[in-house]
Amino acid sequence: MSLFNVYPLFDITPVKAKDIHVFDSNNTKYLDLYGGHAVISIGHSHPEYVKRISEQVSTLGFYSNSIQNPMQVELSEKIETLSGCSDYELFLCNSGAEANENALKLASFHNNRKKVLSFKNSFHGRTSAAVAATDNPNIIAPINAQQEVAFVALGDLEAVKKVLEKGDVCAVIIECIQGVGGLDESSTEFYQGLEMLCKSYGTLLIADEVQSGFGRTGDFFAFQKHDISPDIISMAKGMGNGFPIGGILIHPSIKSSFGLLGTTFGGNHLACAASLAVLEVLESEGLMQNANEISNYFISKARELPKLKTIKGRGLMLGLEFDFPIAELRKNLIFNHHIFTGSAKNPNLLRILPPLTIKKEHVDAFLSALKIELSK
Ligand code: PLP
Repeated sequence: MSLFNVYPLFDITPVKAKDIHVFDSNNTKYLDLYGGHAVISIGHSHPEYVKRISEQVSTLGFYSNSIQNPMQVELSEKIETLSGCSDYELFLCNSGAEANENALKLASFHNNRKKVLSFKNSFHGRTSAAVAATDNPNIIAPINAQQEVAFVALGDLEAVKKVLEKGDVCAVIIECIQGVGGLDESSTEFYQGLEMLCKSYGTLLIADEVQSGFGRTGDFFAFQKHDISPDIISMAKGMGNGFPIGGILIHPSIKSSFGLLGTTFGGNHLACAASLAVLEVLESEGLMQNANEISNYFISKARELPKLKTIKGRGLMLGLEFDFPIAELRKNLIFNHHIFTGSAKNPNLLRILPPLTIKKEHVDAFLSALKIELSK
């Protein structure tokens, strides 16, 4: 049987990984500045993570959600401590798309509306609110055909107001830093204005922190820089360091009831063990602080690069924008220097999403390789 071919693949087969390095089947060592789409938060195969998961699998890996699982409570408490988001409740699922689907459903149940507003160039997974990460029209098809999605430009409060004032929008969903779209971010004034508009028109505000959450930006969540309080926060990616887990944080003004949401695998014991290990290491190794420090170092050094147009993003969610398409450069970094980086919808943007354990020496290695390629 062949594989359903939806991804262009590089001819590299990783067989093992340690911290920020990945090794292929020829034992070639790669510097991983992409972390499998911002998933690897505490480094590949972190010993505490491996220990926690191994111990968990040898006792109880999974049992259904109809039985008590104290690990979910432990996880909710740890997320609260590290994020400072104390006024929320936790629902666990398995991925970013699923987290956003649950967030949208919940908003729709809450105010009995169906329309969703999202922003141009945003990406919320293969969900009702998905916006094409490429210009391929096939991938904007809503999963839930009943849900209508309107798109406006990021930063345009007037356009938001025009859509919301009709009074039929259940939720606005937003990435406070756009990931796949190319790291665009608006002003604090915009995010606070958006929050106020949502409140005025009875629309829920969903912060999609699937990519930017769990410490990646140096704050626990990217929206925290703007001092806003979303009604629902969706999370995944870095939450499990590679173990599939997602979740939503829900403001208690949205009431739970039996059967409102549901999942077979969401919040299983193994997934909780993975995410607890992530949070413990994030805390014990000061990784959010490291994200800030290395980010500052990266930005100051990258400014010296030839041909660079701008540096985008914050923390360890960064992009280098050039005035030419970076596809070839990205390939050369992989095959000539053994460095993984990422691309974005913006063809001129090289994305950097390393494990939060990255050190200055890795930044130096990357920038010297990049300089060699840029001076060719
Ligand atoms: N939301 C954002 C901001 C994302 O970047 C992604 C994936 O890239 C998703 C949602 C979807 O997550 P998943 O691929 O786990 O479904």
